[in-house]
Amino acid sequence: MRILFKDANILNVKDGTLSLGNVITCGNTIEYVGTSSFGEFDEVIDCNKNIVMPGFVDAHCHSPMSILRGTGDDTALDEWLYNYMIPLENKLTPDDIYWGEKLAVLEYLASGITTVEECYFENEKILQALSQSGLRARVGFGPSTRKVSGDLQTYLKTQLSLFEKYDSSLLKPCVYIHAIYSTTQEDIEKSVDFSAKHNLPMSIHLSETLDEVGNCTVQNGGLTPPQYLESLGFFDRQTLCYHCVHMDKDDLQILSDYDASICTCPSSNVKLASGIAPVYAMQNKGINIAIGTDGPASNNSLDMFKEMFLVATLSKVAISDASVVKASEVLKMATLNGAKALGFDSGEIAKGKKADIIVVDIHNPHMHPHDNLVSNLVYSAKSSDVKLTMVDGKILYRDGKYTNEDVEQIYKKVDEIKKRLKNEH
Ligand SMILES: [Zn+2]
Repeated sequence: MRILFKDANILNVKDGTLSLGNVITCGNTIEYVGTSSFGEFDEVIDCNKNIVMPGFVDAHCHSPMSILRGTGDDTALDEWLYNYMIPLENKLTPDDIYWGEKLAVLEYLASGITTVEECYFENEKILQALSQSGLRARVGFGPSTRKVSGDLQTYLKTQLSLFEKYDSSLLKPCVYIHAIYSTTQEDIEKSVDFSAKHNLPMSIHLSETLDEVGNCTVQNGGLTPPQYLESLGFFDRQTLCYHCVHMDKDDLQILSDYDASICTCPSSNVKLASGIAPVYAMQNKGINIAIGTDGPASNNSLDMFKEMFLVATLSKVAISDASVVKASEVLKMATLNGAKALGFDSGEIAKGKKADIIVVDIHNPHMHPHDNLVSNLVYSAKSSDVKLTMVDGKILYRDGKYTNEDVEQIYKKVDEIKKRLKNEH
């Protein structure tokens, strides 16, 4: 399949510039970016000067929590987690999780998200839903808030074997530790050993709240969460740390020294009153910063436009300087940096890269005038401006319609599940 996107405003996320031209995809790869066009095409898409840019990489999510959207809102984090989320999550069946993942897929595709980092339970169902969707994803497994039945080593082995059924270029595994506070030292060490043995990357929620940092320091001889993980060899692997809200310069230096990536999740952090991540300080340490939505129960939407706006604006307000964390930098975080954090060869519109492409409409009032479209993308654009979403060279969403998903069936199933959960809670 060879597709021409013609007359497009093509975003270069490396330097934050736009240029008018054409993009050609061949199979799952970007074949050409420039002002010419050549050869035969299976389809020509007239972009009418709309923006063609890499799809967003949502580097941290628990997608099936879409079923719990609106549950426990406006309660404190501890109450939200222990009185609402965990009890309800314990009632979710594998089928519930499958339909929750499907609902999230609809939202991802409609808002231009082409890649996700997924961390939840019942990965067999999650992998099934993701493989049907055509999305690119890294899927985590390991010690989590739902107790692993039996021996952790056996569980990890079984989880890894699930990936053998699926296309390894689209779905990759990683070892996911929920958090220091929910995992024993022994289980962290076992997970690190497993990751080393199988050459797998690792992810964790880290320094999300002040309580987490305080408790870790008290329980581990004065070590902060990054210092504690360093002492267990966690950072010897390729690692991605979610949140990192409460980190000082020394903590960030550890992440920088080990080349760890950070995924900042501003909506979740402000909604749960966790705080504002020190993004400008992370940038100054040269850390690869990606952006995530976190689960749709703590956000409550899977919308990277909203996250980009918050990363830029909260970072400015945190240090009272409107000149820091610029729109072009945030666009790179939401695309190329995310792809790098997850280990995918995508995240930019460039020859040879995987064809994960979205088309963003600029013919709406809030996108005019057009003299600074890079800024408009971060400060004015809405997820409903996404007209088309392509993953791995396949168009999965166009003008409100999905290629692989039965929308009405998904809504019906999710409503039934939510009704049942309400009766059980
Ligand atoms: Zn999370």
